[in-house]
Amino acid sequence: MTATVTVQDIYRTIRDVPDFPKPGILFKDITPLLLDPRAFRRAVELMSTPFAGAQATRVVSIESRGFLLGAPVALALDAGLVPIRKPGKLPAARGRVEYALEYGTDALEMHRDAVGPGDRVLIVDDVLATGGTAEAAAKLVRSHGADVVGFTFLIELDSLKGRGRLRGERVEALLHYT
Ligand code: AMP
Repeated sequence: MTATVTVQDIYRTIRDVPDFPKPGILFKDITPLLLDPRAFRRAVELMSTPFAGAQATRVVSIESRGFLLGAPVALALDAGLVPIRKPGKLPAARGRVEYALEYGTDALEMHRDAVGPGDRVLIVDDVLATGGTAEAAAKLVRSHGADVVGFTFLIELDSLKGRGRLRGERVEALLHYT
């Protein structure tokens, strides 16, 4: 029998890339995790299990690395998968939310018919940093009349305190860094 993959094993698959995409950012690269099917499968399991009883009807994932994790989490929870994308990428009728960045604003879009009243939505992304992106995604989901049942991240950068912006819902993260 093969040994179970531990959380420590999953930590070892995350590559730190200094000064990417700009100086001063320590980028958490998840691509080595994707190369390791046992660790990837275990990470998806550990991201999904806390919400096994949440009766999520939709998993909403955030462009673009969020898609890589959101798709298997949606299958694990038997929920529909919904991509949230940067403006101009989704083809059909869209809802939109704008949110503040350090300098300026950005926006996210979601198909209008993807989420609606009665839906219970789990939001998935790779990294929780300042929480601005996840907070905007939740706002977009709620503006479509659906409930947010929680958030699940592979990685949380604890010192940025993004969790504080997601108050009121369950927030899970598998790996923690300062
Ligand atoms: P934030 O809105 O500050 O929570 O940023 C979250 C988004 O930015 C996520 O979609 C992440 O993919 C990305 N992100 C932020 N910081 C990092 C980092 N250090 N390494 C990799 N991705 C990051």
